[in-house]
Amino acid sequence: MSGSAPLPAADLDQKAFLVAAKRALSIGVPKLTWDQFALRVGVEPRAMKTYRMPAESSDFRTMPKLVIEKVEALVRSASAAGVSETLVTLPSEADASTWRRGPDAMKLLPASLAALTTRQARQVFMGGGASMISGVDRLWTGVSGLSDEDRRAMALVSRARLSLGLSDIGAEIHELLAYCTKPLGVWLPIPAVKEAGLSSVYLIDPEDRMPTLEAEELAAGFSGATGLLEEQVFAAFQDSLSKHSSKDADEYYSQVRTFVVRNPVVNRKQLLRFVTTLPAAVWVCVEQQFYEPLPSSLLTGETATLCAHCSNVMAKHAGALRCTTAACCAEHGPSPGRTQPASELMRLNRSLRKYWFEPGIDELRLADRLAANGHKVRMYPNRDAVDLDLGDGRPVGIDLKAYSSPELLGERLRRRPGGLRTYKKPLLVIPDWLARRVPSYIDRVSACLEGSPIRALTLSDAVAELGHA
Ligand SMILES: [Zn+2]
Repeated sequence: MSGSAPLPAADLDQKAFLVAAKRALSIGVPKLTWDQFALRVGVEPRAMKTYRMPAESSDFRTMPKLVIEKVEALVRSASAAGVSETLVTLPSEADASTWRRGPDAMKLLPASLAALTTRQARQVFMGGGASMISGVDRLWTGVSGLSDEDRRAMALVSRARLSLGLSDIGAEIHELLAYCTKPLGVWLPIPAVKEAGLSSVYLIDPEDRMPTLEAEELAAGFSGATGLLEEQVFAAFQDSLSKHSSKDADEYYSQVRTFVVRNPVVNRKQLLRFVTTLPAAVWVCVEQQFYEPLPSSLLTGETATLCAHCSNVMAKHAGALRCTTAACCAEHGPSPGRTQPASELMRLNRSLRKYWFEPGIDELRLADRLAANGHKVRMYPNRDAVDLDLGDGRPVGIDLKAYSSPELLGERLRRRPGGLRTYKKPLLVIPDWLARRVPSYIDRVSACLEGSPIRALTLSDAVAELGHA
């Protein structure tokens, strides 16, 4: 077969695309393995495996656009000039070790990059230039001014990449932000990233083009200036609660947040039925600020199909309907539920989807399983002191977190245990799908929590340990 034969479309059949690309690159390297192929593309072998899974598998991951482009470029240049000289040079261990001796600045690179992405996002949202373009190289058209901090972070990226023999992507902010939608280990394979367990971390969510929770966590340790986006969006809600007694406010908070997590998409009647159970100020806030019309890009004609597991809207993906909730896809195959007229539906706004709904999927899963065992579960007690507990005055308090990096998570909880501190038996629960996907997750996060009373375990282990009430 000729190396210049066209590749199958990656978005239609990711596996066929990869098989054809590997075959094309094998011309000059007869025994090219999948792991070698992954390294040449610049992704972790583990990630490549998830890209080759059948689309209906719960381990399946969509290849980021930039990885597809990289594969295509490799195949193009292999067929044009012969394989051996055109493969991407990988940083050798010897190259990498010079960084270990290098200036401490490199250690700060992940955090300073994370701070850059959160600053840029804030600028876009608060400067009113909230026009985001997805799918192309321009991420945030509203990005304008760069601070000295930003320039320093960009210069560090350039230096790190160039000395690893990789192209310079730190010179242009839009290009750099586009790379931030890939896992750090893919495009910034420096020791500071690997040693801190950050290889799997995305700084910008490739789907919704916002800094990830992990980027904000990293930046928080660096600039202390994050959380502003969240504060802005949720201030009105907190304000509406503040007019009530602390006990009532706690209760309304739990009710609203649980409703949000169970109802990422609602019709107007359903929303009205719920909000009218709330006091006026809270009602107005939820009704007017939490939900927005369903975007037409998610619709298949006049109707929308909702996921049978999490009730979020399903979208066409590689020819089949898939749930648009990441935590749901990680655990289940697609399972279409109700179909409703699209004009009646509204969905949660972007901030609520990110901060409440996505993390809430696993929280609900845990709460429902504990409730089935007869426990009296309280979700988000005391205005979110912890994700859930088993009742007032009871010893168990639980936070559930799905950070891709166990090191980042462990560090964060050791530094800021939050409401868990107030419980006799504080538990950190990791979704089963994440513990399956990341090797030794529980051991790694536990190592970072040494000396802390917080104990980490998987969701299934937590359910087993807490047993029946
Ligand atoms: Zn779902």
